[in-house]
Amino acid sequence: MNVVLIGYGTIASALMPNLLSEFEGEIKCLKVIDPYGVKKLSADFDCPVVWVTTSVTKENLDYLLSELDSDSFLINLSVDVSSVDLVSFCQKKGARYIDTCIEPWAGHYVNADAEPADRTNYALREAMLALKAECQNGPTAIVAHGANPGLVSHFAKQALLNIRDDIYGISQPIPQTRQQWAKLSADLGVKTIHIAEHDTQVAKLPKRPGEFVNTWSIDGFIGEGCQPAELGWGTHELRLPPEGQRHTTGRNSAIYLNRPGASVRLKTWTPAFGPCLGFLITHNEAVSLSDYLTCFEGEQVTYRPTVNYAYHPCSDAILSIHELSGCSWHSQPQKRILQGRDITSGGDYLGVLLMGHEKNAYWFGSYLENSVAQKLNPESSATSLQVVAGVISGMKWAIANPCCGIVEAEEMDFRFVLDNARPYLGEMLGEYTDWSPVEEDKGLFSIASSDKWQFENFME
Ligand code: NAD
Repeated sequence: MNVVLIGYGTIASALMPNLLSEFEGEIKCLKVIDPYGVKKLSADFDCPVVWVTTSVTKENLDYLLSELDSDSFLINLSVDVSSVDLVSFCQKKGARYIDTCIEPWAGHYVNADAEPADRTNYALREAMLALKAECQNGPTAIVAHGANPGLVSHFAKQALLNIRDDIYGISQPIPQTRQQWAKLSADLGVKTIHIAEHDTQVAKLPKRPGEFVNTWSIDGFIGEGCQPAELGWGTHELRLPPEGQRHTTGRNSAIYLNRPGASVRLKTWTPAFGPCLGFLITHNEAVSLSDYLTCFEGEQVTYRPTVNYAYHPCSDAILSIHELSGCSWHSQPQKRILQGRDITSGGDYLGVLLMGHEKNAYWFGSYLENSVAQKLNPESSATSLQVVAGVISGMKWAIANPCCGIVEAEEMDFRFVLDNARPYLGEMLGEYTDWSPVEEDKGLFSIASSDKWQFENFME
């Protein structure tokens, strides 16, 4: 196959050595398009590598990608290039496609003329779903399949099975349809799911004033951090949170808050240090997973869990967000992405926290230490290697299933994906906890409702 890679930043450079080893002998030609030009490749490719030093734009897309055909695979790891336009082009050309985020064209996230609802991931996903409806059985195009969004939706399915088996002690059949997965989640009584991530990686060189430091794209993080906070909205919720808004179009499964996600902090829990505060950053999986796990009777929604991202980034990124917020969200003049060797210790705890069931709360996910990631791939950090795991496993699924049209993570075979991602994920942990967002206050402060899993109780 011929591979075209758009964007050669943190994730793409971490992907490169694994792309080589996983698809050895299968790639005939690799074309890389990035405005910052030729970079040193860490691995030797046994195929020609063509560098194109330019930005992909709406105007030049047809020309730059004219060679795509049914033997091509387009990997989009850029920021600021519309996923909907790229997928649409690949569908016409017969090429397979994967990205790790449904991206809009540059400027969309910070367009002050756009309504907040139009700047949400809900709106970006609705646009992708409209295209999906037109492209049944087209070449497989996997959208939003990195670590999160991506692998975490498969973690959620595995977590549901683990809870079921721990409660009932017997192995029952694995759900095969969306309705069966939704029924399992409803029957177990899952009310809320956090994509609960705690990045504990420590930078060799601490953040300096005027600098944004992070373990993956700074442009990507600032972009999504400035979008409205957003979450899939569960049927158990009694009232909207302050500044909460419903959508007036589409499937109405999610809500947004009329403020940047990076300004909203939520209580959550991971096995790193137990309770912690995470940012309510909008993410595609909060919308897609909650939608996927919805039960209906006729047209009537009878069950849906609340799903949201609760992100505790590395300490230097938290300081960077604090500074960014203080500067009214105008980005710092300096940006520094931490690659593996810039990190002295720590790792990334990335998992799903399923709450409200008989066993209270259960976290399931990957703990990848940076030192382990470095041994697996010296170009990566723990964070970027978890994303690489989503890309590699997604590509393998697309090659095995070439004519599925546009596909979201939840529609894929979770066992296939997890088996193929597993070598890059470090330890897979599953831990129950008696933690809840109200327990830790020890009755000192009033709570929003007697139901401890109400969204408002998670808000700081
Ligand atoms: P990065 O900022 O390090 O790299 C982005 C690259 O895109 C840069 O090299 C930049 O030059 C290039 N680029 C910018 N505009 C372009 C254009 N018009 N045409 C071609 N290239 C262009 O970002 P990253 O950390 O590598 O992240 C890449 C993507 O992956 C982002 O969309 C990010 O949101 C996503 N991501 C997803 C996950 C996940 O788990 N799903 C995790 C991390 C990042």
